[in-house]
Amino acid sequence: MTEQEHKKLICEIGRRLYERGLISGADGNISIRLRPGRFLATPAGCSKGFLKPEDIAVTDAAGRPLGPGHPSSEMQMHLAVYRKRSDVGAVVHAHPPTAVAMTFAGVSLEQCIMPEVLIYMGTVPTARYATPSSPECPQAVENLIERHDALLLDRHGALTVGEDLLAAWERMEKLENLADVVFKARSLGAVRTLSADELERLEKMAASIGRKVDASMWREASPPYRQDLIDKLAAQVARLLRESGLAEPESMQDHESQEHQQ
Ligand SMILES: [Zn+2]
Repeated sequence: MTEQEHKKLICEIGRRLYERGLISGADGNISIRLRPGRFLATPAGCSKGFLKPEDIAVTDAAGRPLGPGHPSSEMQMHLAVYRKRSDVGAVVHAHPPTAVAMTFAGVSLEQCIMPEVLIYMGTVPTARYATPSSPECPQAVENLIERHDALLLDRHGALTVGEDLLAAWERMEKLENLADVVFKARSLGAVRTLSADELERLEKMAASIGRKVDASMWREASPPYRQDLIDKLAAQVARLLRESGLAEPESMQDHESQEHQQ
């Protein structure tokens, strides 16, 4: 792709983020690493939903403008990612509302509940709070980005990376979708996480397509699925209920179930 085509793609992704409600006002920023020392970045202080290619800023590795456009101060957060990850070609930062609400409520998206998200995006930790645009922002991100492709930023937004801009953008959409699912699941009751056995299987599946997913922390916290223990526990509960008079004796239950079958 030419530099001009990369600029056009940034405008298109800005429009998609805006239309999906993942940014509002002048929120968010998008960047691409063209080559070492040359980056494209969305300009500061304007909506990313209505950009034109000539608006896109060109910077050096320190974020200094190499042309007329000026990137946001949050470009430093993007540059921190590029320094840590030579495999990353693009970074998307947005303020997806459900995902950000999770951080206000202290709810983590790091739990492993959706197999496809785990394979494609890995686990999504929350970076510690840092004042937006402050020097603490890049520091909070660089601690985690070496091992993750998607992060929540406490009481601020989210950051996703990819080998190219489409991959980084897809992860941002998936991240907000994950937050929506977690929100709905929690409103229905307790959220069931994947078993340790299944996490191991998904890690292997991810490795087979060249993705390194580390769910070891959750695997160790999740006991293997044991149907025999569940059956044993159910039998003990049933016996205790019968002994305390809260359930009918076993012989009557058997008699009734035989009647139902007839
Ligand atoms: Zn922001």
